Amino acid sequence: MNAAELTGRTRTHVVEVAEMACVAHIHVVTPFLSLRRAALRDGIDVRIASGFRDFDRQLKIWNEKFSGARPLYDAAGERLDAAALAPAARVEAILRWSALPGASRHHWGTDVDLIDRNPIAAGYRLRLTADEFAAGGPFERLAAWLDRRAANFGFFRPFRGVLSGVQAEPWHYSFAPVAENALRSLDRAVLAEALAPAPMLGKDEVLARLDEWHARYVLRVDPP
Ligand SMILES: [Zn+2]
Repeated sequence: MNAAELTGRTRTHVVEVAEMACVAHIHVVTPFLSLRRAALRDGIDVRIASGFRDFDRQLKIWNEKFSGARPLYDAAGERLDAAALAPAARVEAILRWSALPGASRHHWGTDVDLIDRNPIAAGYRLRLTADEFAAGGPFERLAAWLDRRAANFGFFRPFRGVLSGVQAEPWHYSFAPVAENALRSLDRAVLAEALAPAPMLGKDEVLARLDEWHARYVLRVDPP
């Protein structure tokens, strides 16, 4: 992937997956559909709730969290008041749950948020929270199945909350053969170049400590 692809500023590396109503990296489609077929045989209807996401979308999420237009949470999931936090603390609070624009693994098209369509009703309001994937939650079976089988298809969980700076995300899976290369290519300079011209709130704060954010939230993930 080139710098624009790594940071979600182009779509040359991704394709529309008609069967899944989503966009993903061109080399991820076949392995994902194999995983999906195997899961279907076990009664699990795996769907991609979120696949490729571009830079502008991530920037919008970032700016809404920074300005307080979108809720901000602490490590325990309690609501924080953005206005009461100094810029540095606000940046840290956002990064606990959301990636920097340019640094989301969803930009690569290799990473997908997965759900099971079977146990939920038509009007179900998806939250993507840990309790939905824990014992008693609607996606308990999906989580157990993926734990056992996802690696056979090349997928792993980069955010287990063991090594990862990001909170545990049991729904977030990554296609290792492509994502591992992307991670090596997304160095600090590539990220800085993507952020420099962006209309991003808190940008000075972010750029001043970009080495630290890059090390903690990009490089530090749980391995395949
Ligand atoms: Zn995700």
